[in-house]
Amino acid sequence: MQQPRLPTETPAHTIVSTGQAGSDLGSLPAAPVVERIACVECDLLVQIGELGEHERATCPRCGHVLTAPRPDGLTRALAYTLAACVLLVLANTFPFLQLKAKGLEQVMTLPRTAIELYRDGYGVLAVLVLGPIVGIPALILMTLLALLVPLRRPQPAPWLVPAGRFVSFLSPWSMVEVFVIGVLVSLVKIAAMATVVMGISFFAYVGFAVCFTLALSNLDTLEMWGEIEARTP
Ligand SMILES: [Zn+2]
Repeated sequence: MQQPRLPTETPAHTIVSTGQAGSDLGSLPAAPVVERIACVECDLLVQIGELGEHERATCPRCGHVLTAPRPDGLTRALAYTLAACVLLVLANTFPFLQLKAKGLEQVMTLPRTAIELYRDGYGVLAVLVLGPIVGIPALILMTLLALLVPLRRPQPAPWLVPAGRFVSFLSPWSMVEVFVIGVLVSLVKIAAMATVVMGISFFAYVGFAVCFTLALSNLDTLEMWGEIEARTP
């Protein structure tokens, strides 16, 4: 009698090269070698060997990118995290937008938007507005610092595993890029009604959004957990 097929199949090996032609596979960076990992999209177990520079492994069933290690990915992620921290502080310190219309002038800062909503009785809305664009990204940055700085040293740290899980849990809740696009769309409409002057905070937040996105994109999950595992007793 034929056995029923399990939802997780025998692993398939797939490596998709996105690099330049003629790359030297003998001088590839030390990517972690694992036997099998599960695709987060479809639960298929996939066997992955060593990947080279500009190579990535994708799920053979759904095409989800399983891992795409980059040279010095964790170091780049740390550098972008530090830059994002500085820019986020600047974005919350200076004026974001200045609106002028009919002799009236109003200066808006990121914290003030939430404060005004709270004063008007929309406390939940204030949290929902400021949380995904400032609060959650700030938490992610702090966790990344607590994770990436110890990973540069050989000594183990007891918080590496929970920090890795916390970053993976929080990342989908960040709406940094959505906010930047939303502000740009809003500016087109507001510009027809009032004079809009973009403040230092606006440019700082755009820079923060770029650095924040680059920090997360350089943080390869498989490489990160490989480094954490190497430092976990
Ligand atoms: Zn899949």
